[in-house]
Amino acid sequence: MKKKIVITGAAGFLGSHLCDRFIAEGFEVIGMDNLITGDLKNIAHLFQHKDFHFYHHDVTKFVHVPGKVDYILHFASPASPIDYLKIPIQTLKVGSLGTHNLLGLAKEKNARILIASTSEVYGDPLVHPQNEAYYGNVNTIGPRGVYDEAKRFQESITMAYHRFHGLETRIARIFNTYGPRMRLNDGRVIPAFLGQALRGEDLTVFGDGSQTRSFCYVDDQVEGLYKLLMSDYSLPVNIGNPHEISILDFAEEIIKLTGTQQKIVFKPLPKDDPMQRQPDIAKAKEILGWEPKISRAEGLKTTYEYFKGFSKEALQKSEH
Ligand code: NAD
Ligand code: UDP
Repeated sequence: MKKKIVITGAAGFLGSHLCDRFIAEGFEVIGMDNLITGDLKNIAHLFQHKDFHFYHHDVTKFVHVPGKVDYILHFASPASPIDYLKIPIQTLKVGSLGTHNLLGLAKEKNARILIASTSEVYGDPLVHPQNEAYYGNVNTIGPRGVYDEAKRFQESITMAYHRFHGLETRIARIFNTYGPRMRLNDGRVIPAFLGQALRGEDLTVFGDGSQTRSFCYVDDQVEGLYKLLMSDYSLPVNIGNPHEISILDFAEEIIKLTGTQQKIVFKPLPKDDPMQRQPDIAKAKEILGWEPKISRAEGLKTTYEYFKGFSKEALQKSEH
C-alpha cells in the first residue's frame, strides 16, 4: 500500500518542490494550502496525477484528512520578511495554532511529522556559524518577532508533543533557500535582485551590504529534508549551505551573472535584519550523511533561467 503524506504550504516555493519529490518517490500526496502567499501554478502540473490531491484549506482552522496518514510536512507559513510584516497575525497563527492542528492530526493518525523551522530562531546571532546548541538572540517585540517567535513556539510545542505524547517528530532549521518557483515579488534578496536586473532597475542593497547570508539551492534543501524525515533523529537539525557571502558581494555576483548595466543603490537596513548567518551543518553531515552539492554559480544560473522565462507584464507586475 502506498505511503500517504500531507504537505502544508504545498502551493508555495518549498512545499511545491516537496510535493514533486514525494510524488516521484511513489507516495500519495495531499497538498494543503490557503494560497495566502502561494500560487496554484506551482503545483498545476500535479493536478492530473492520480496520487496528488489538493485541499484548499487554512491550517489555522481544524484540519481533517480522511483515512490513514503516514507522514506530515508542515511548511505552511509566510517566509519572506515583506510577507510576514504584511500579515503578522496570520504568521503568528499559522506557526502556533496551525502547528497545533497538524500535531493533533499527527497524533490522531499516528503519523511522523516534520516541521519547517528556520535559521530565524537564532535571530541576529551572537554565535557564528550557528549550531543547533545556540539558543538565539531574538527581539520578541520587534517587527520580525512575529515570524521568529512563531517558529520558536512551533519548535517548543513540537518537542512537547514528542516528549508528552511520544509523537515521532522532526525539526528542520532551514537556512536561506532559493530556486525556481520563488515569487518574483516576494521581496527576498534573490528574486529581488534578479527581478531588478531583468527589469533594468538598479539593485537595492539594504544597509551597507556587509551583512552576510549563505544560500542553499532548493534541490539540496529537499534532499536534506527528505533524509531528515526518514531519519530517527528528533532534535533540531540545520539544513543549509555554509557557503557565506556578504549581500554587497552578492549584488556584484548578480550583476556579473545577468550582465546588467545597472548599478547598486543603498537603502536603509530593515530593523533587526541579522548581520551574519551561516549554518554549522556538522550535525546534518553526521546524522543524515547530507551536505549540499550544488554551487551558488550553478543554482543561480538555473534560477535566472527560470525568471528569464517570465513575460514583460509579469516582470512589471513584480515591481514593489
Ligand atoms: P512560501 O511563501 O513560498 O510558501 C508558504 C506557503 O504556505 C504558501 O503557499 C502559503 O499560501 C501557505 N500558507 C501560509 N499560511 C497558510 C495557512 N494558514 N494555511 C494554509 N497554507 C498557508 O514560502 P517558502 O519559502 O516555500 O517557505 C515554506 C516554509 O519553509 C515556511 O514554513 C518557512 O518558514 C520555511 N522556511 C523557508 C526558508 C526559505 O529560505 N525558503 C527558510 C527558512 C524556513
Ligand atoms: N536585501 C537587500 N536588498 C533587497 C532584499 C533583501 O539588501 O532588495 C537583504 C536583506 O536586508 C537581508 C538579506 O538581503 O540582509 C537577505 O534578505 P532576505 O529577505 O532574502 O532573507 P532574510 O533576511 O530572511 O535572510
